[in-house]
Amino acid sequence: PPLYMQRYQFVIDYVQAYRPRKVIDLGCAECRLLKKLKFHRNGIQLLVGVDINSVVLLKRMHALAPLVSDYLQPSDGPLTIELYQGSVTEREPCTRGFDLVTCVELIEHLELEDVESFSDVVFGYMAPGAVIVSTPNAEFNPLLPGLKGFRDCDHKFEWTRDEFQTWAHRVCREYGYSVQFTGVGEALGPWRDVGFCTQIGVFQRNFDGINWSMSNAERLEPSVYKLLYKVVY
Ligand code: SAM
Repeated sequence: PPLYMQRYQFVIDYVQAYRPRKVIDLGCAECRLLKKLKFHRNGIQLLVGVDINSVVLLKRMHALAPLVSDYLQPSDGPLTIELYQGSVTEREPCTRGFDLVTCVELIEHLELEDVESFSDVVFGYMAPGAVIVSTPNAEFNPLLPGLKGFRDCDHKFEWTRDEFQTWAHRVCREYGYSVQFTGVGEALGPWRDVGFCTQIGVFQRNFDGINWSMSNAERLEPSVYKLLYKVVY
């Protein structure tokens, strides 16, 4: 399967294993991951997508609407899906209290100083139970035919494994998380040492000290992000 599908599948497998109830996808673009998560629900009750670009969000959001079959076979309890236009560098009250935050190929689109705000917003303010971050592994680039420079002209940087891991370990120290590294897209034979094509960090919050409280607490109203779409199954 293509690399982007492998990244989505990685998240789906995680959801299957850990059963988060509230999942938020940052930089969700055309909502492809959300659509897959809606299909493989595994007990998800709240599914939220955020992107700074409302044009890409609006393009495909109707793919999230309930299908006739969703009504014919009422599945595992109620599901709410919401899409917001907003930036991951800003603190938004309604993004707190999630079990899982996913950031698939997002951080490399941020300027480095915005990565700092992103870290503070996601790990310090949203403080979810877990965070999955994927980003290109620059060490793999020589294996990509014809590639000069970055993999996408909108990328502001592409990190080596060491650079990604240095950032991740610092985030863990500052905000109380633990991280494990993995990836998708493996190099073969003599190239094995370069690591995965896409590197992935899976972060887990260390203590449940302040628990933004998983399903019981009132959810705060959005005050910074703009709600573009909402559907309740
Ligand atoms: N996650 C999607 C996927 O894997 O299919 C697509 C990721 S796309 C490569 C990066 C997305 O991040 C774009 O849709 C872009 O609009 C969004 N983005 C860039 N800066 C952002 C920001 N500050 N806040 C929220 N989204 C942002």
